[in-house]
Order: sequence, then structure tokens, then C-alpha cells
Amino acid sequence: MSERLEALLAHARATKGFMPDDEGLVLYRAAVRAGRRRHVARGATFVEIGAWCGKSTVYLGAAAEETDAVLFSVDHHHGSEENQAGWEHHDPEVVDPATGRIDTLGLWRRAVDSAGLGANVVAMVGDSPTIATRWSTPLDLCFIDGGHGEEPAWADFEGWAPHVCIGGWLAIHDVFCDPADGGRPPYELWCAALDSKQFVEDGECGSLRVLRRIAPPGTDV
Ligand code: SAH
Ligand code: MG
Repeated sequence: MSERLEALLAHARATKGFMPDDEGLVLYRAAVRAGRRRHVARGATFVEIGAWCGKSTVYLGAAAEETDAVLFSVDHHHGSEENQAGWEHHDPEVVDPATGRIDTLGLWRRAVDSAGLGANVVAMVGDSPTIATRWSTPLDLCFIDGGHGEEPAWADFEGWAPHVCIGGWLAIHDVFCDPADGGRPPYELWCAALDSKQFVEDGECGSLRVLRRIAPPGTDV
């Protein structure tokens, strides 16, 4: 492993967030494979939905740097429903005292800048489904880890999964087969992707599921 990669992984481990290291490494490796897909005039394109303080961003950004890809990191940075006060994943440290609202953008920026990943990572600050409706670049990798409620999770899946190119990767976080371990929507997205026959399983670790888009039957791509 290069010194640079070791430093980036150490950085990811030290960043606040919700990505266990073993899962982050599986995500990183999927992204390296996705990043090796070459395009005519540029490197590969990755999107992550749900960045929080930049932990998954650094794992994915490490792969983007290594392969000359660009990671677009989508988040409004005001937290999901489950991050708000009174909910399970609330963290008072990320509340902006001036507004009383969660604001993780500053921490995200610090994580990306201090990792030196600014050339390969772009923040898209806003509502994920709104951005998805205006997005048109085919994705070599899409990582879905945004709001985990029924409505936001499905909106992310419906808005972003169709942009994954044939041969490209779709990763979904917080997929729990046993309802006792966590909420249903991410698991249901994963089932829907497999049921669609457009995606096949391509790895898993913890609650991370990696899928790959296949060509529709009868086509020769
Ligand atoms: N991947 C992160 C964790 C993401 S937590 C890590 O590695 O730690 C989920 C994130 O989704 C939150 O930061 C929240 O602000 C974001 N989110 C939820 N709904 C969203 C929406 N509609 N548009 C943009 N971001 C959203
Ligand atoms: Mg998650």
C-alpha cells in the first residue's frame, strides 16, 4: 500500500461519521475498479449521496485520486431526520449555535481539504432528488447513504440508480436483512435493484452492499 493511501485511510478513520473501516475499504476497492473505467476525454465519475462530515467521502476520494476520477458529494448538510435532536443518530457537536440547525458542511470541507482531496472531490450542497432531476452524466459509481426514511431513500434510488452506466457500480449503505438490526428502506432498495434484474451482487461487508449494473438481456455491450 502506498504511503499516500495509508495516510488517506488513516484520515478517513479519524473523520467523524458512520462508516466502519472494513466497509469503507470495500467501498474504496469498488471505487478503484469503477475508476479504472476510462472515458474518451476524462476519468470516471462518482456520486455519493449522504456525506455528513466526509468520512465516506475520504474513502471514495482516495479512489478518485488514485484513478483520476471525480467524486461529486451530494448533501444539504442539514442532517437526515434520524440525525435531528431526539433521534438515534443525533450529535449535538454538529449543531450550528447561530442557527440551532445541524450544519456539517464546515466539517466536511475540513475533512476533504486536510486530506488534500480538493482536486478530485466536488461538493454539491443541496437536496439530492432536486440535483438528480438535473443530472445527466453517466455514473461509474453511485453510493447511496442519504436519508434512510421511506421517502428519501426511495427518492435517492429512483433519482440516481438510473444514472449508473452499464458495467458501473451501485453501492448502498445500511442494508440490514434482519429488521432487528436497523430500518427497512435501504434493504428494500437493495432488493428492488436485484429484482429489477439490472443489477447483480458484487460484494458486501457489514451493512454495505455493492452491486454492478449489467447489460439488458439480448444486448451486446
Ligand atoms: N456517508 C456518511 C454518512 C451520511 S449520513 C458517512 O460516511 O459518515 C446521511 C446524510 O444524508 C446526512 O448528512 C444528511 O444531511 C444527508 N441527507 C439526507 N437527506 C438528504 C437530501 N434530501 N438531500 C441531500 N442530503 C440529504
Ligand atoms: Mg450509512
